Amino acid sequence: MRVFSFYQRVSRAFHDYPSFSKLIVIFTVSSGGLVAYSDSKSHHGANNVNLSQTDCKKKRVVVLGTGWAGTSFLKNLDSSVYDVQVVSQRNYFAFTPLLPSVTCGTVEARSVVEPVRKIIRKKKEEIRFWEAECTKIDAAKKEVHCRSVQKVGSDGKEEFIVEYDYLVIAVGACANTFNTPGVEENCHFLKEVEDAQRIRKSVIDSFERASLPNLSEEERKKVLHFVVVGGGPTGVEFAAELHDFVNEDLVKLYPKVKDLVKITLLEAGDHILNMFDKRITAFAEEKFGRDGIDVKTGSMVVKVTDSVISTKEMRIGEISSVPYGMVVWSTGIGTRPVIREFMNQISQTNRRVLATDEWLRVEGCKSTYALGDCATINQRKVMEDIAVIFDKADKDKSGTLTVQEVQDVIKDIQIRYPQVELYLKNRRMKNIVDLLKDSKADDEKKSLELDIEELKSALSQVDSQMKNLPATAQVAAQQGAYLARCFNRMEECEENPEGPIRFRGEGRHRFHPFRYKHLGQFAPLGGEQTAAQLPGDWVSIGHSSQWLWYSVYASKQVSWRTRFLVISDWTRRFIFGRDSSRI
Ligand code: FAD
Ligand code: MG
Repeated sequence: MRVFSFYQRVSRAFHDYPSFSKLIVIFTVSSGGLVAYSDSKSHHGANNVNLSQTDCKKKRVVVLGTGWAGTSFLKNLDSSVYDVQVVSQRNYFAFTPLLPSVTCGTVEARSVVEPVRKIIRKKKEEIRFWEAECTKIDAAKKEVHCRSVQKVGSDGKEEFIVEYDYLVIAVGACANTFNTPGVEENCHFLKEVEDAQRIRKSVIDSFERASLPNLSEEERKKVLHFVVVGGGPTGVEFAAELHDFVNEDLVKLYPKVKDLVKITLLEAGDHILNMFDKRITAFAEEKFGRDGIDVKTGSMVVKVTDSVISTKEMRIGEISSVPYGMVVWSTGIGTRPVIREFMNQISQTNRRVLATDEWLRVEGCKSTYALGDCATINQRKVMEDIAVIFDKADKDKSGTLTVQEVQDVIKDIQIRYPQVELYLKNRRMKNIVDLLKDSKADDEKKSLELDIEELKSALSQVDSQMKNLPATAQVAAQQGAYLARCFNRMEECEENPEGPIRFRGEGRHRFHPFRYKHLGQFAPLGGEQTAAQLPGDWVSIGHSSQWLWYSVYASKQVSWRTRFLVISDWTRRFIFGRDSSRI
């Protein structure tokens, strides 16, 4: 079909050239003006928001969340095809990678946020936004229960129900405390913009408190002991930012207490930044050592009171406690209550996040999609389908596969099972024929006919390559864009997009499963030095990567307004330093 092949070409362009999609995204977001949006159809007092009255032909899509996944979905969706409503407890999008910079005033909070209404008003058709928290998803009735974040009158917060035909769940995740006693009550988290603002105030408070006249030296030391829990990218970046803030700005303003400052980074594993290349880990640990940041690996926090933090040395099992002034907890993500409740409802009980298939459809729940930090893709195993694959490939029904027969189906197999490609890449093999040859005994290599047992043994290790995608903005944004493209072509996507396993001559997959394209990751380490790990395991560390970081983060901004603000914040910091006023 012509339309389909055009779509395939476009989607391939998106897939093959991420810069193309970036160009389009940047263009879309930057073309709007700066006029404030006012929602003329504000729905106060309505208890049941039913769009079928306004337009019964259009299907109702409800999107939960305005983070990376939700916003990317909305920006790419053809809103003229659907009646779209968005429910989120915050009326802005936050550029989370810059939150550590907000904690120390390198970048201002308002520079990293963009009002959702400004993003959605650029769409062809009106998209309605409700600033509310979704408290319950009722999959049977296709309703979401919402509670406004605004206080309405004396009866408290208004509650209402939104009905949907399709639900897109993109509510992200919450901080994970691993039920460690005292964490919730005594630690700062770094998930939201408000968290970053609270941390900034608290750091400055600590310096003012430590400068008061009647404190003993011990008390001053305690107040100026900053503890960061978690040696992942966020914890490491925050520790580095804090170190820079103290050493570049605060030491000049608080000269009497500057020598009492201590920053400790606690990590339960053997190394910090363990998801990065070993060279980056080693460089970061060494740099932090030189900077005087006390990195304690193999140290698990077991309890936090209002004045001391207790850790267990993983090697010897010994528990020790140290007084602290402030703790920032950054140890990964947990499940939001609304998602946990929903998972119980649809019998996904023993999981941490919502399981979806490769088309982002929630398992066990029709017309519901989940993406971003609240979901994980349950990738189909090759071994589960090996008999079907063999049967389809064996066109002449000879009971064996020839090289030609394998070659005819390989492209489809690689699309359906991305782990095959990954496996070949890791084994440095050009194609699957090499793999099949490899599995044969030397004397049998000449004849490349395979029976099912031989095919099984050749592909037996392939599924070991399956990995969950990381909980990152990159994944969330790509999933949002992908799902919007699915929605824009729902007629191909809705009913059985995977088809039966289809092979050449019989037509291809109706709609490609989601495929993540990793564009690299950064770990800012302070002192204008950043570690970058780019695709192909290309590692670069130092000042040049810091400039790459500046340019990538400037280009990824959601609008020209935030881009301008962020760049001007960086410039201001270079010239005047960070501001330490406690406001
Ligand atoms: P979020 O972006 O968290 O959005 C969730 C949305 O859902 C929000 O709008 C929220 O208000 C809304 N919501 C929550 N609960 C409800 C509810 N009950 N009802 C309605 N709405 C709700 N990733 C990178 O790739 N690179 C980085 O450099 C990077 N740095 C990071 C630094 C920090 C400090 C943090 C915290 C994260 C960082 N990440 C980074 C990870 C990245 O931010 C997340 O992976 C990404 O935000 C996930 O997107 P999401 O849309 O799933 O969730
Ligand atoms: Mg055959």
